[in-house]
Amino acid sequence: MAMLELQGVTVRFGGLVAVNSLSFDVQEGTIHGLIGPNGAGKSTVFNVVSRFIRQDAGEIRFRGQALDCEPHEVVMRGIGRTFQNVELFRGQTVLDNVMIGLHTAGKTDVLGGALQTRRVREEEAATAKRAHETLRFLGIAEYAGRRAYGLPYGVQKLIELARALALRPSLILLDEPVAGMNPTERMELAGVIRQIRSEFGMTVLLVEHDMSFVMNLCDRITVMNFGSKISEGTPPEVQQDPQVIHAYLGEEEQDAAAR
Ligand code: ADP
Ligand code: MG
Repeated sequence: MAMLELQGVTVRFGGLVAVNSLSFDVQEGTIHGLIGPNGAGKSTVFNVVSRFIRQDAGEIRFRGQALDCEPHEVVMRGIGRTFQNVELFRGQTVLDNVMIGLHTAGKTDVLGGALQTRRVREEEAATAKRAHETLRFLGIAEYAGRRAYGLPYGVQKLIELARALALRPSLILLDEPVAGMNPTERMELAGVIRQIRSEFGMTVLLVEHDMSFVMNLCDRITVMNFGSKISEGTPPEVQQDPQVIHAYLGEEEQDAAAR
């Protein structure tokens, strides 16, 4: 059984069809890539899976069950995500930014937090421990006490990843995880993503523009263009697909025209 199933999912913004009757499955234990030119609808797919927006048609199932709940419940059911544009509380410490993820998931109880009962203090300590472990896993423990404001972009991306990982989701959605990173950071992150799967058993669905990164890392790739799926398969299969080549060449021509 597929872990995540999209069936005929359509999202419209006014007259624009951002996602057009899209169907694809993500198998448990895989690193699955979702690629396509700018504006293809990839981030919209993530937003609809995390329930930030509702689809106009179609169905999404997670572990066989319809995913028609609120965003916080999506997190509780084991789906984590990062955003294309890093979203951190810039005035808070790195550790707090990671712990915030654990709090919003309801792992600690807000009312109890005000009362500071012993149980709450224990939970708070467990939350901090989990956050520290996750920062160590990502190699950024040294930043734990620093404010997120002004840290290098690559580090900020890792903090956001830590926030999602700290919840130990079973499925993690990564939207352009290496955008803005240098080649060394990109290579390291590819290793981290492999480790996320091997050590935590997580399934990964990622959107990424860096083709060599995607092709080296993913088991399976779904390609979108103008909201629709245009190709799917293993990295070599999609790389050789004339439809995919055409879509990306079209994008390069547009870029060239813009320059
Ligand atoms: P991608 O992530 O593949 O670059 P997006 O999913 O961000 O593409 O966007 C797909 C299309 O939907 C684009 O044309 C974009 O401008 C449009 N779009 C995305 N989000 C919104 C929104 N909240 N309101 C209106 N249009 C949107
Ligand atoms: Mg996007």
